[in-house]
Amino acid sequence: MLRARVDLAVCQGHAVCRRVAPAVFDVNEDDGRAVVLLDAIPPELAQSARNAEQGCPEQAIRLEEDTGAEHQSGQEE
Ligand code: SF4
Repeated sequence: MLRARVDLAVCQGHAVCRRVAPAVFDVNEDDGRAVVLLDAIPPELAQSARNAEQGCPEQAIRLEEDTGAEHQSGQEE
């Protein structure tokens, strides 16, 4: 599952991310910084999240693939 992080030290509140992927990002009107709305990004929103990552003028967004390997209930013995 894909996870998004925003580096708030470099985020400038352009809100490109919210425009590109409104289901994934919002911008806090108080401090002008982006907020990640989803803990885990479902596959149907992955492309828009990637577009936001690439469109962020500050390159503040990092997407990380969480393999979830530790959480799998394996059948191995
Ligand atoms: S586009 Fe980038 S700089 Fe702008 S609010 Fe989103 S994360 Fe912050």
